[in-house]
Amino acid sequence: MSAQSRSTLEWQQLDSAHHVHPFTDPKALTKRGVRVITRADGAYVWDSDGNKILDGMAGLWCVNVGYGRQELVDAATRQMQELPYYNSFFQTATPSQIELGQALAEVTPPGLDHFFFANSGSEANDTVIRIARHYWHLKGKPNKRTFIARTMGYHGSTLAAVSLGGMPHMHALDKVLLPGFAHIMHPHWYTLGGTLSRSEFGIVAARALEDKILELGPDNVAAFIGEPVQGAGGVIDPPETYWPEIQRICRKYDILLVADEVICGFGRTGQWFGSQTFGIEPDLMPMAKGLSSGYLPISAVAMNKRVFEAVNEGGLLAHGYTYSGHPAACAVAIANIRLMQREKLVERVREDIAPYFRARLQELADDHPIVGELRGSGLLAGLQLVKDKAKRTIFTTEDDAANKCRDLCLDHHLIMRAVGQTMVLSPPLIITRAQVDELVSKVKIGLDLTARHFGLG
Ligand code: PMP
Repeated sequence: MSAQSRSTLEWQQLDSAHHVHPFTDPKALTKRGVRVITRADGAYVWDSDGNKILDGMAGLWCVNVGYGRQELVDAATRQMQELPYYNSFFQTATPSQIELGQALAEVTPPGLDHFFFANSGSEANDTVIRIARHYWHLKGKPNKRTFIARTMGYHGSTLAAVSLGGMPHMHALDKVLLPGFAHIMHPHWYTLGGTLSRSEFGIVAARALEDKILELGPDNVAAFIGEPVQGAGGVIDPPETYWPEIQRICRKYDILLVADEVICGFGRTGQWFGSQTFGIEPDLMPMAKGLSSGYLPISAVAMNKRVFEAVNEGGLLAHGYTYSGHPAACAVAIANIRLMQREKLVERVREDIAPYFRARLQELADDHPIVGELRGSGLLAGLQLVKDKAKRTIFTTEDDAANKCRDLCLDHHLIMRAVGQTMVLSPPLIITRAQVDELVSKVKIGLDLTARHFGLG
Protein backbone atom coordinates (compact mmCIF):
# COMPACT_ATOMS: atom_id res chain seq x y z
CA MET A 1 0.00 0.00 0.00
CA SER A 2 1.63 3.25 -1.12
CA ALA A 3 1.77 5.95 1.54
CA GLN A 4 0.60 8.48 -1.02
CA SER A 5 -2.59 6.59 -1.75
CA ARG A 6 -4.65 8.21 1.05
CA SER A 7 -4.98 11.62 2.60
CA THR A 8 -3.93 12.15 6.21
CA LEU A 9 -7.57 12.35 7.26
CA GLU A 10 -8.32 9.05 5.56
CA TRP A 11 -5.37 7.40 7.33
CA GLN A 12 -6.55 8.81 10.65
CA GLN A 13 -10.12 7.60 10.23
CA LEU A 14 -9.00 4.14 9.19
CA ASP A 15 -6.52 3.97 12.06
CA SER A 16 -9.08 4.89 14.68
CA ALA A 17 -11.53 2.38 13.17
CA HIS A 18 -9.28 -0.64 13.76
CA HIS A 19 -5.95 0.02 15.42
CA VAL A 20 -5.35 -0.25 19.19
CA HIS A 21 -2.07 1.57 19.98
CA PRO A 22 0.54 0.68 22.61
CA PHE A 23 1.29 3.25 25.32
CA THR A 24 -1.46 5.56 24.09
CA ASP A 25 -4.63 7.03 25.56
CA PRO A 26 -7.17 6.05 22.87
CA LYS A 27 -9.50 9.00 23.55
CA ALA A 28 -6.72 11.57 23.35
CA LEU A 29 -5.50 9.94 20.15
CA THR A 30 -8.90 10.04 18.47
CA LYS A 31 -9.30 13.69 19.44
CA ARG A 32 -5.93 14.67 18.04
CA GLY A 33 -5.68 12.27 15.09
CA VAL A 34 -2.79 9.89 14.68
CA ARG A 35 0.47 11.13 13.11
CA VAL A 36 1.25 8.94 10.13
CA ILE A 37 4.94 8.48 9.31
CA THR A 38 5.28 7.38 5.72
CA ARG A 39 8.99 7.28 4.87
CA ALA A 40 12.44 7.97 6.26
CA ASP A 41 16.03 8.58 5.23
CA GLY A 42 19.18 9.07 7.32
CA ALA A 43 18.17 10.96 10.48
CA TYR A 44 14.82 12.20 9.12
CA VAL A 45 11.28 10.88 8.84
CA TRP A 46 8.44 12.29 6.74
CA ASP A 47 4.77 12.39 7.74
CA SER A 48 1.73 11.97 5.51
CA ASP A 49 1.49 15.76 5.07
CA GLY A 50 5.01 15.76 3.63
CA ASN A 51 6.68 17.35 6.68
CA LYS A 52 10.35 16.48 7.10
CA ILE A 53 11.03 15.80 10.78
CA LEU A 54 14.40 15.30 12.49
CA ASP A 55 14.18 12.06 14.47
CA GLY A 56 15.86 12.86 17.77
CA MET A 57 14.81 9.45 19.14
CA ALA A 58 16.01 7.07 16.37
CA GLY A 59 12.49 5.60 16.34
CA LEU A 60 12.24 4.05 19.81
CA TRP A 61 15.97 4.35 20.61
CA CYS A 62 16.73 1.76 17.98
CA VAL A 63 17.57 2.97 14.47
CA ASN A 64 21.25 3.30 15.30
CA VAL A 65 22.59 3.18 11.72
CA GLY A 66 19.92 5.58 10.47
CA TYR A 67 17.13 4.99 7.97
CA GLY A 68 17.48 3.90 4.36
CA ARG A 69 20.53 1.63 4.64
CA GLN A 70 20.26 -0.45 1.47
CA GLU A 71 22.62 -3.20 2.62
CA LEU A 72 20.28 -4.12 5.47
CA VAL A 73 17.39 -4.28 3.01
CA ASP A 74 19.50 -6.42 0.65
CA ALA A 75 20.48 -8.80 3.46
CA ALA A 76 16.80 -9.32 4.34
CA THR A 77 15.81 -9.77 0.69
CA ARG A 78 18.53 -12.31 -0.05
CA GLN A 79 17.72 -14.29 3.08
CA MET A 80 14.00 -14.28 2.44
CA GLN A 81 14.53 -15.53 -1.11
CA GLU A 82 16.88 -18.27 0.00
CA LEU A 83 15.26 -19.41 3.24
CA PRO A 84 12.53 -17.19 4.70
CA TYR A 85 12.04 -19.31 7.78
CA TYR A 86 13.36 -22.23 9.63
CA ASN A 87 13.48 -22.74 13.36
CA SER A 88 16.31 -23.39 15.79
CA PHE A 89 14.48 -25.92 18.00
CA PHE A 90 15.23 -29.64 18.16
CA GLN A 91 18.88 -29.72 17.06
CA THR A 92 18.50 -27.51 13.98
CA ALA A 93 20.13 -24.25 12.90
CA THR A 94 20.31 -21.98 9.87
CA PRO A 95 23.45 -20.26 8.52
CA SER A 96 22.44 -16.73 9.51
CA GLN A 97 21.78 -17.80 13.13
CA ILE A 98 25.18 -19.42 13.32
CA GLU A 99 27.00 -16.47 11.73
CA LEU A 100 25.19 -13.95 13.91
CA GLY A 101 26.59 -15.67 16.99
CA GLN A 102 30.07 -15.34 15.50
CA ALA A 103 29.59 -11.65 14.59
CA LEU A 104 28.18 -10.84 18.03
CA ALA A 105 31.07 -12.54 19.82
CA GLU A 106 33.41 -10.11 18.01
CA VAL A 107 31.72 -7.08 19.58
CA THR A 108 30.47 -8.22 23.00
CA PRO A 109 32.78 -7.86 26.02
CA PRO A 110 35.27 -10.73 26.46
CA GLY A 111 33.73 -13.86 27.95
CA LEU A 112 30.15 -13.06 26.91
CA ASP A 113 30.17 -15.18 23.80
CA HIS A 114 27.18 -17.50 23.88
CA PHE A 115 23.80 -16.19 22.73
CA PHE A 116 20.14 -17.14 22.98
CA PHE A 117 17.95 -15.43 20.36
CA ALA A 118 14.47 -13.93 20.80
CA ASN A 119 12.46 -11.19 19.13
CA SER A 120 12.14 -8.26 21.51
CA GLY A 121 13.70 -6.75 24.59
CA SER A 122 10.80 -8.06 26.65
CA GLU A 123 11.33 -11.60 25.44
CA ALA A 124 15.05 -11.27 26.09
CA ASN A 125 14.31 -10.33 29.69
CA ASP A 126 11.81 -13.16 30.12
CA THR A 127 14.62 -15.38 28.87
CA VAL A 128 17.03 -13.87 31.42
CA ILE A 129 14.60 -14.63 34.25
CA ARG A 130 14.10 -18.22 33.19
CA ILE A 131 17.79 -18.89 32.53
CA ALA A 132 18.91 -17.36 35.84
CA ARG A 133 16.44 -19.49 37.79
CA HIS A 134 17.42 -22.57 35.78
CA TYR A 135 21.07 -21.78 36.56
CA TRP A 136 20.52 -21.70 40.32
CA HIS A 137 18.43 -24.84 40.20
CA LEU A 138 21.29 -26.58 38.41
CA LYS A 139 23.70 -25.26 41.04
CA GLY A 140 21.64 -26.93 43.77
CA LYS A 141 20.20 -23.65 45.08
CA PRO A 142 16.60 -23.77 43.86
CA ASN A 143 15.46 -21.12 46.34
CA LYS A 144 17.52 -18.45 44.60
CA ARG A 145 14.59 -17.22 42.48
CA THR A 146 13.95 -13.57 43.31
CA PHE A 147 15.11 -10.79 41.01
CA ILE A 148 16.04 -7.41 42.41
CA ALA A 149 15.56 -4.48 40.04
CA ARG A 150 15.13 -0.71 40.39
CA THR A 151 12.23 1.72 40.61
CA MET A 152 11.85 3.51 37.26
CA GLY A 153 13.66 0.63 35.57
CA TYR A 154 12.17 -0.48 32.26
CA HIS A 155 12.61 -4.04 31.11
CA GLY A 156 9.64 -4.56 28.80
CA SER A 157 5.94 -5.13 28.61
CA THR A 158 5.30 -8.86 29.01
CA LEU A 159 3.92 -9.85 32.40
CA ALA A 160 7.33 -10.97 33.67
CA ALA A 161 9.14 -7.93 32.23
CA VAL A 162 6.57 -5.54 33.74
CA SER A 163 7.01 -7.20 37.13
CA LEU A 164 10.76 -6.88 36.73
CA GLY A 165 10.48 -3.21 35.76
CA GLY A 166 9.81 -0.50 38.29
CA MET A 167 7.27 1.64 36.44
CA PRO A 168 4.34 2.53 38.71
CA HIS A 169 1.95 3.39 35.85
CA MET A 170 2.60 -0.01 34.26
CA HIS A 171 2.15 -1.87 37.54
CA ALA A 172 -1.17 -0.04 37.93
CA LEU A 173 -2.57 -1.75 34.82
CA ASP A 174 -2.11 -5.22 36.32
CA LYS A 175 -2.88 -4.40 39.97
CA VAL A 176 -1.12 -7.65 40.96
CA LEU A 177 2.44 -8.41 39.90
CA LEU A 178 4.09 -11.78 39.57
CA PRO A 179 5.82 -12.97 42.73
CA GLY A 180 9.62 -13.14 42.89
CA PHE A 181 10.47 -9.51 42.08
CA ALA A 182 11.72 -6.79 44.41
CA HIS A 183 12.81 -3.21 43.75
CA ILE A 184 15.33 -0.81 45.17
CA MET A 185 15.73 2.94 44.63
CA HIS A 186 16.92 4.28 41.28
CA PRO A 187 20.23 6.16 41.47
CA HIS A 188 18.96 9.59 40.50
CA TRP A 189 21.07 12.09 42.38
CA TYR A 190 19.20 15.19 41.17
CA THR A 191 15.86 14.19 42.72
CA LEU A 192 16.95 11.82 45.49
CA GLY A 193 20.47 12.93 46.41
CA GLY A 194 19.52 15.70 48.83
CA THR A 195 22.65 17.21 50.35
CA LEU A 196 24.92 14.27 49.47
CA SER A 197 27.61 14.68 46.81
CA ARG A 198 27.05 12.66 43.65
CA SER A 199 29.68 10.10 44.62
CA GLU A 200 28.37 9.72 48.18
CA PHE A 201 24.87 9.25 46.79
CA GLY A 202 26.12 6.59 44.34
CA ILE A 203 27.31 4.47 47.27
CA VAL A 204 24.09 5.01 49.23
CA ALA A 205 21.95 4.02 46.23
CA ALA A 206 24.07 0.89 45.60
CA ARG A 207 23.95 -0.14 49.28
CA ALA A 208 20.16 -0.33 48.93
CA LEU A 209 20.93 -3.54 47.03
CA GLU A 210 22.85 -4.97 49.96
CA ASP A 211 19.99 -4.05 52.34
CA LYS A 212 17.46 -5.74 50.07
CA ILE A 213 19.60 -8.89 49.69
CA LEU A 214 19.92 -9.13 53.48
CA GLU A 215 16.18 -8.53 53.92
CA LEU A 216 15.28 -11.29 51.44
CA GLY A 217 18.16 -13.56 52.42
CA PRO A 218 21.02 -14.13 49.92
CA ASP A 219 19.88 -17.74 49.46
CA ASN A 220 16.62 -16.48 47.96
CA VAL A 221 18.04 -13.97 45.47
CA ALA A 222 18.83 -15.03 41.90
CA ALA A 223 20.02 -11.81 40.31
CA PHE A 224 20.18 -8.07 40.20
CA ILE A 225 19.23 -6.37 36.93
CA GLY A 226 19.85 -2.80 35.83
CA GLU A 227 20.19 -0.76 32.67
CA PRO A 228 23.69 0.80 32.60
CA VAL A 229 21.81 4.08 32.05
CA GLN A 230 18.09 3.89 32.85
CA GLY A 231 16.47 4.93 29.57
CA ALA A 232 12.68 4.99 29.69
CA GLY A 233 12.88 5.96 33.37
CA GLY A 234 14.25 9.35 32.30
CA VAL A 235 17.86 8.77 31.15
CA ILE A 236 19.34 8.28 34.61
CA ASP A 237 23.11 7.81 34.47
CA PRO A 238 24.29 6.82 37.93
CA PRO A 239 27.19 8.47 39.77
CA GLU A 240 30.53 6.86 38.92
CA THR A 241 30.66 5.18 42.33
CA TYR A 242 27.44 3.23 41.74
CA TRP A 243 28.24 0.35 39.39
CA PRO A 244 31.52 -0.71 41.06
CA GLU A 245 29.68 -0.95 44.37
CA ILE A 246 26.82 -2.92 42.79
CA GLN A 247 29.36 -5.27 41.24
CA ARG A 248 31.09 -5.75 44.61
CA ILE A 249 27.79 -6.52 46.36
CA CYS A 250 26.70 -9.04 43.70
CA ARG A 251 30.03 -10.86 44.03
CA LYS A 252 29.95 -10.79 47.83
CA TYR A 253 26.52 -12.45 48.04
CA ASP A 254 26.86 -14.63 44.93
CA ILE A 255 24.05 -12.91 43.02
CA LEU A 256 24.04 -12.94 39.20
CA LEU A 257 24.47 -9.51 37.66
CA VAL A 258 22.39 -8.67 34.60
CA ALA A 259 23.02 -5.57 32.49
CA ASP A 260 19.98 -4.74 30.36
CA GLU A 261 21.66 -3.38 27.22
CA VAL A 262 18.48 -3.01 25.17
CA ILE A 263 19.03 0.76 24.84
CA CYS A 264 22.70 1.13 25.80
CA GLY A 265 23.98 -1.60 23.47
CA PHE A 266 25.35 -1.09 19.96
CA GLY A 267 27.25 2.12 20.35
CA ARG A 268 24.76 4.36 22.11
CA THR A 269 27.14 5.30 24.95
CA GLY A 270 30.33 5.38 22.83
CA GLN A 271 31.33 1.76 23.41
CA TRP A 272 29.69 -1.29 21.87
CA PHE A 273 27.93 -1.88 25.20
CA GLY A 274 27.06 0.36 28.14
CA SER A 275 28.69 -2.23 30.41
CA GLN A 276 32.04 -1.25 28.89
CA THR A 277 31.39 2.47 29.42
CA PHE A 278 30.46 1.90 33.08
CA GLY A 279 32.90 -0.92 33.91
CA ILE A 280 30.21 -3.55 34.55
CA GLU A 281 31.03 -7.25 34.17
CA PRO A 282 27.62 -8.88 33.77
CA ASP A 283 26.82 -12.58 33.85
CA LEU A 284 23.88 -12.10 31.50
CA MET A 285 23.34 -9.33 28.97
CA PRO A 286 20.00 -8.92 27.16
CA MET A 287 20.11 -6.80 23.99
CA ALA A 288 17.66 -5.83 21.23
CA LYS A 289 16.91 -2.54 19.37
CA GLY A 290 20.37 -1.58 17.99
CA LEU A 291 21.14 -5.25 17.27
CA SER A 292 19.27 -4.86 13.96
CA SER A 293 18.90 -1.06 14.17
CA GLY A 294 15.17 -1.82 14.32
CA TYR A 295 15.00 -2.96 10.67
CA LEU A 296 13.56 -6.31 11.80
CA PRO A 297 12.60 -7.50 15.29
CA ILE A 298 15.34 -9.48 17.01
CA SER A 299 16.91 -9.71 20.46
CA ALA A 300 19.54 -11.82 22.15
CA VAL A 301 20.77 -12.75 25.60
CA ALA A 302 24.53 -13.05 25.97
CA MET A 303 25.74 -15.31 28.75
CA ASN A 304 29.19 -15.66 30.25
CA LYS A 305 31.15 -18.86 30.72
CA ARG A 306 29.80 -19.48 34.21
CA VAL A 307 26.16 -19.40 33.12
CA PHE A 308 26.74 -21.05 29.76
CA GLU A 309 28.65 -23.99 31.20
CA ALA A 310 25.90 -24.72 33.72
CA VAL A 311 23.16 -24.44 31.08
CA ASN A 312 25.19 -26.55 28.68
CA GLU A 313 25.40 -29.37 31.21
CA GLY A 314 21.87 -28.86 32.48
CA GLY A 315 19.73 -31.01 30.19
CA LEU A 316 16.72 -29.77 28.22
CA LEU A 317 16.42 -25.99 28.11
CA ALA A 318 12.63 -25.85 27.96
CA HIS A 319 12.42 -22.33 26.63
CA GLY A 320 12.24 -20.68 23.21
CA TYR A 321 10.17 -18.87 20.64
CA THR A 322 9.00 -19.90 17.16
CA TYR A 323 11.01 -16.98 15.83
CA SER A 324 14.10 -17.42 18.02
CA GLY A 325 16.84 -16.58 15.52
CA HIS A 326 14.51 -15.75 12.61
CA PRO A 327 16.78 -16.17 9.56
CA ALA A 328 15.93 -12.80 7.97
CA ALA A 329 16.28 -10.91 11.25
CA CYS A 330 19.64 -12.63 11.87
CA ALA A 331 20.83 -11.72 8.37
CA VAL A 332 19.88 -8.07 8.97
CA ALA A 333 21.61 -8.07 12.37
CA ILE A 334 24.82 -9.42 10.79
CA ALA A 335 24.68 -6.74 8.06
CA ASN A 336 24.05 -4.12 10.77
CA ILE A 337 27.09 -5.21 12.82
CA ARG A 338 29.31 -5.34 9.73
CA LEU A 339 28.14 -1.86 8.68
CA MET A 340 28.83 -0.48 12.15
CA GLN A 341 32.31 -2.03 12.11
CA ARG A 342 33.13 -0.81 8.59
CA GLU A 343 31.94 2.74 9.23
CA LYS A 344 33.53 2.74 12.71
CA LEU A 345 30.27 4.09 14.09
CA VAL A 346 31.08 3.30 17.72
CA GLU A 347 34.43 5.11 17.51
CA ARG A 348 32.68 7.99 15.76
CA VAL A 349 30.19 8.30 18.63
CA ARG A 350 32.92 8.14 21.26
CA GLU A 351 35.48 10.42 19.68
CA ASP A 352 33.53 12.89 17.62
CA ILE A 353 29.79 13.20 17.54
CA ALA A 354 28.83 12.43 21.15
CA PRO A 355 31.34 14.90 22.63
CA TYR A 356 30.01 17.54 20.23
CA PHE A 357 26.36 16.67 20.98
CA ARG A 358 26.96 16.79 24.73
CA ALA A 359 28.93 20.04 24.61
CA ARG A 360 26.16 21.74 22.64
CA LEU A 361 23.46 20.42 24.98
CA GLN A 362 25.49 21.32 28.06
CA GLU A 363 25.72 24.97 26.90
CA LEU A 364 21.97 24.96 26.42
CA ALA A 365 21.35 23.35 29.83
CA ASP A 366 23.69 25.77 31.63
CA ASP A 367 22.03 28.84 30.14
CA HIS A 368 18.40 27.83 30.14
CA PRO A 369 16.12 28.86 33.02
CA ILE A 370 13.95 25.70 32.89
CA VAL A 371 16.73 23.09 32.47
CA GLY A 372 18.04 21.74 35.77
CA GLU A 373 20.57 19.25 34.48
CA LEU A 374 21.81 17.38 31.44
CA ARG A 375 22.03 13.63 32.01
CA GLY A 376 23.02 10.59 30.02
CA SER A 377 26.01 9.20 28.20
CA GLY A 378 27.14 9.34 24.58
CA LEU A 379 24.21 9.92 22.25
CA LEU A 380 21.69 9.33 25.03
CA ALA A 381 20.56 12.51 26.74
CA GLY A 382 17.96 13.73 29.22
CA LEU A 383 17.19 17.36 30.02
CA GLN A 384 15.49 17.74 33.40
CA LEU A 385 12.83 20.44 33.26
CA VAL A 386 12.61 22.59 36.39
CA LYS A 387 10.50 25.44 37.71
CA ASP A 388 13.29 26.65 39.94
CA LYS A 389 16.84 25.91 38.93
CA ALA A 390 18.48 27.05 42.18
CA LYS A 391 16.16 24.97 44.38
CA ARG A 392 16.10 21.91 42.05
CA THR A 393 12.28 22.10 41.94
CA ILE A 394 10.97 20.03 39.05
CA PHE A 395 7.68 20.67 37.25
CA THR A 396 4.73 18.64 38.51
CA THR A 397 2.69 16.11 36.56
CA GLU A 398 -0.14 18.67 36.53
CA ASP A 399 2.15 21.28 34.94
CA ASP A 400 2.91 18.73 32.23
CA ALA A 401 5.78 20.88 31.01
CA ALA A 402 7.60 18.03 29.27
CA ASN A 403 4.65 16.98 27.10
CA LYS A 404 4.08 20.63 26.24
CA CYS A 405 7.73 20.98 25.24
CA ARG A 406 7.57 17.75 23.22
CA ASP A 407 4.55 19.04 21.26
CA LEU A 408 6.25 22.38 20.64
CA CYS A 409 9.37 20.62 19.34
CA LEU A 410 7.23 18.54 17.03
CA ASP A 411 5.56 21.70 15.71
CA HIS A 412 9.11 22.71 14.78
CA HIS A 413 9.80 19.33 13.18
CA LEU A 414 11.88 17.65 15.85
CA ILE A 415 10.91 14.36 17.51
CA MET A 416 11.88 14.37 21.17
CA ARG A 417 10.38 12.25 23.91
CA ALA A 418 8.95 13.39 27.22
CA VAL A 419 9.50 11.06 30.20
CA GLY A 420 8.05 12.44 33.40
CA GLN A 421 9.42 15.99 33.40
CA THR A 422 12.52 15.08 31.41
CA MET A 423 13.08 15.69 27.70
CA VAL A 424 14.84 12.74 26.12
CA LEU A 425 17.07 12.47 23.06
CA SER A 426 18.58 9.37 21.45
CA PRO A 427 19.36 10.25 17.82
CA PRO A 428 20.73 7.86 15.18
CA LEU A 429 24.49 7.33 15.54
CA ILE A 430 25.01 8.70 12.02
CA ILE A 431 23.74 12.16 12.96
CA THR A 432 26.08 14.85 11.57
CA ARG A 433 27.40 17.96 13.34
CA ALA A 434 25.11 20.12 11.17
CA GLN A 435 22.15 17.96 12.19
CA VAL A 436 23.18 18.24 15.86
CA ASP A 437 23.16 22.03 15.40
CA GLU A 438 19.69 21.81 13.87
CA LEU A 439 18.54 19.56 16.72
CA VAL A 440 19.89 21.83 19.45
CA SER A 441 18.37 24.95 17.92
CA LYS A 442 14.98 23.21 17.71
CA VAL A 443 15.25 21.98 21.31
CA LYS A 444 16.00 25.58 22.31
CA ILE A 445 12.88 26.85 20.52
CA GLY A 446 10.79 24.20 22.34
CA LEU A 447 12.33 25.09 25.70
CA ASP A 448 11.98 28.85 25.15
CA LEU A 449 8.31 28.54 24.26
CA THR A 450 7.68 26.21 27.21
CA ALA A 451 9.41 28.64 29.57
CA ARG A 452 7.32 31.50 28.17
CA HIS A 453 4.14 29.44 28.65
CA PHE A 454 4.96 29.10 32.37
CA GLY A 455 6.05 32.74 32.66
CA LEU A 456 9.67 31.69 33.26
CA GLY A 457 11.33 32.79 30.03
N1 PMP B 1 14.73 -3.21 28.21
C1 PMP B 1 14.97 -1.90 28.02
C2 PMP B 1 16.11 -1.25 28.76
C3 PMP B 1 14.18 -1.15 27.16
O1 PMP B 1 14.42 0.16 27.00
C4 PMP B 1 13.14 -1.80 26.46
C5 PMP B 1 12.26 -1.05 25.47
N2 PMP B 1 12.29 0.30 25.46
C6 PMP B 1 12.92 -3.14 26.71
C7 PMP B 1 13.74 -3.82 27.58
C8 PMP B 1 11.79 -3.87 26.05
O2 PMP B 1 12.03 -4.03 24.70
P1 PMP B 1 10.83 -4.38 23.71
O3 PMP B 1 9.96 -3.16 23.61
O4 PMP B 1 11.55 -4.70 22.42
O5 PMP B 1 10.12 -5.56 24.24
